[in-house]
Amino acid sequence: MTETIKHTRPFLRVMSEAPYFITLDEALDISFQTRIEIGTESCTLDGAHNRILAVPLPSKVDDPPFDNSAMDGFAMRYEDTLKPPTKLEIIGTVSAAKQTNLPEVKTGQTVRIMTGAPLPSTCDSILQIELCEVDGDTLTIQEESKKHFVRKMGENLQKDKQILSSGTILTPARIGLCATMGYEKIPVVQKMKVAIISTGDELKQPGEELEYGQIYESNSYGLAALVRWLGHEPVRMHSVADTMEELRETLDVAAQQCDLILTSGGVSMGEWDLVRKIMEEEGDVHFWRVKIRPGSPPLFGKWKNTPLFGLPGNPVSSHVVFRMLVAPWIREVTGAQGPTEMKTSAKLMTKIKSTNDCITLRRVSIETIDGELIASNKIHQGSGNIASLAFSEGLTLLQPGQHPKIGDLVDVLIL
Ligand code: AMP
Ligand code: MG
Repeated sequence: MTETIKHTRPFLRVMSEAPYFITLDEALDISFQTRIEIGTESCTLDGAHNRILAVPLPSKVDDPPFDNSAMDGFAMRYEDTLKPPTKLEIIGTVSAAKQTNLPEVKTGQTVRIMTGAPLPSTCDSILQIELCEVDGDTLTIQEESKKHFVRKMGENLQKDKQILSSGTILTPARIGLCATMGYEKIPVVQKMKVAIISTGDELKQPGEELEYGQIYESNSYGLAALVRWLGHEPVRMHSVADTMEELRETLDVAAQQCDLILTSGGVSMGEWDLVRKIMEEEGDVHFWRVKIRPGSPPLFGKWKNTPLFGLPGNPVSSHVVFRMLVAPWIREVTGAQGPTEMKTSAKLMTKIKSTNDCITLRRVSIETIDGELIASNKIHQGSGNIASLAFSEGLTLLQPGQHPKIGDLVDVLIL
């Protein structure tokens, strides 16, 4: 009974009919129904870090493009080396470079070869330099040569075969892979422009002098970094004072210039929670309040046809809500397959307060002790304490009603 009273929609001047205080899954489902058009563009490899591949990508070449040596040493015919010790005549050297005439290696002969150099056609094996005795043009070896030191043409990648799928996040290794496949430019999803609007009369820019009652505006910086982490472009609007006029003007500019609007602050139930109020009165609210803690106040909807997430002002909450709601939406609408959210389970070593109705996302440090992953809650957990996030490696994913004891295994999202 108490539960029902607690979850009743509060009285607002304009009462939105939008779903209120819903589960995270319900919130994701609702937000995923709002899509936006995003184009593609061509990008050089040097600019490709963290971009989203827009099409499936086949290799233009075989990798390796030719059989070659994996070792510095000598190349020979395996059958010549079956009865060691073996003496072979050294007839030349093959280096790693463009080759026109490779030496023809006959029975009883060998060539010096460098790592990456093409293998003469009659050779099928290598012996590494450390195991070779050289005297003039005679090579003596004490064991069989090794076939596995030959890197076979196409053993890694095959020409025309699809290697990367659409939506792949271009990590450093994948950029190297694109170059290996012969691409100088690649089609990527255009960066989404994400407006970030902080609200609050008390906010001052870092670098300025604080007066009594003021704090530094920090959310937009953390949120901008999260937007970049997902491969998109943050557009920080000036932070707005708590007036409907200034907020309306800034939202209008943001809606014109950007694909998505993030606001921070002003979405709770107070008199000064103007983002909530202006969205209720003049915008289009799709849901308000989600069962996660911290971070239960968020709102999602549209301002003049531009999707908008209203994030809470508390610094930990705004970050957590981005991870739980905004990042999945951005991935969904851009088709991005990452950055992957890594989840693990760890043994809880400190008591954690959880709730019956919300997913509890406590900041924990994660260490390996005696081969076990240990999660502990070492820092004061107020949602205004950004340090609790900055010095944590994970967020617990405690389901509603899950009240773990010390020593229990709990799911953790890696930050
Ligand atoms: P609000 O949601 O506007 O009631 O804000 C909740 C708390 O977060 C208050 O203590 C605010 O001072 C603080 N806060 C709001 N916006 C920011 C911001 N951009 N940077 C840092 N703290 C903020
Ligand atoms: Mg505020």
